[in-house]
Amino acid sequence: MPSSTRKREVGRGERILPGVWRLRLPLPWPGVPHCNAWAVAAGDGIVLFDTGLHEPGSFANLERALAQVNLKVEHVRLLVCTHAHSDHYGQAATIVERTGCELWMHPNHDHMLQAARDPDAALDRRVEVARQSGVPDEPLRRYSEARRGQGYGIAGIIEPDRDLVPGIDVHTDLGTWQVFETPGHAPSHVCLYQEERRILISGDHLLGRVSLYYDYGYSPDPAGEFLHSLDLVQELDARLCLSGHGRTFTDVQAHINANRTLVRERLGKVEEVIRAEPGITAYEAIPKVYGAAITALNANWWLSETLSYLRHLEVTGRLERIDGTPERWAVAS
Ligand SMILES: [Zn+2]
Ligand SMILES: [Zn+2]
Repeated sequence: MPSSTRKREVGRGERILPGVWRLRLPLPWPGVPHCNAWAVAAGDGIVLFDTGLHEPGSFANLERALAQVNLKVEHVRLLVCTHAHSDHYGQAATIVERTGCELWMHPNHDHMLQAARDPDAALDRRVEVARQSGVPDEPLRRYSEARRGQGYGIAGIIEPDRDLVPGIDVHTDLGTWQVFETPGHAPSHVCLYQEERRILISGDHLLGRVSLYYDYGYSPDPAGEFLHSLDLVQELDARLCLSGHGRTFTDVQAHINANRTLVRERLGKVEEVIRAEPGITAYEAIPKVYGAAITALNANWWLSETLSYLRHLEVTGRLERIDGTPERWAVAS
């Protein structure tokens, strides 16, 4: 169907609890049709958790979602971002400009802010990682050409007014939300927890369906960090999860277990693949790990994920890398 006749998704708002609203905002990404921002009543206004992606028409979608629950952008007293990915932080600059509110976000946001400040350097670095991982020159050149000059889905580069770290509390009519650092999906990731009501704002750390993604290259061991973050969130014993995509869910423990199981499975698979064929590259390992061919759509995602597992198996002493260009992997001696 030509895109002009395809029904365009629009922003939608719904009340989840008294004083908590889900703002469902469309995304232009295949397989990820929308993301959530969460509005929570606070005095004469709201605290807004996350923003939606910035693209033409995106701000109108946020306004429309708010209007459906009788709110306006002008009600935002504080903007809190769970992490610096474009679908959670993209409209921060516009919201702050419109309202004069503060932005609170974790300080490990280089994976977005630094990359957006110097996109060419970020792309060069990414291409270099891919080359080292064994991605052949031709697809790499095509990727690089397609990616260069593309935007980041953010309205502007805006630094947080306050570093969102443990010890910082977010006050709302539902009570205080505590900050928990949950890196793995992204180095800047935090979850917010309302202890008395046992409600977790989980960003992309926990989603309704298990979907593993890691920002590789900005921290020592993204997969290990993610596993640690799952342990941390398990301790909270949340009974309602407001996640960054999809519907709310209550079986939080089952979701934590499902994530952990899939990470363990993939780690096991990556190790098995290297054991069976020592000396292969990350790129060569990917189709064997996933049992499917690499395509332009999945290449980036699967490479980051596979590299994160290889790295975790390296730091835990299971595998070792054989230096060279490209890098190859073997069982640790
Ligand atoms: Zn994310
Ligand atoms: Zn997201």
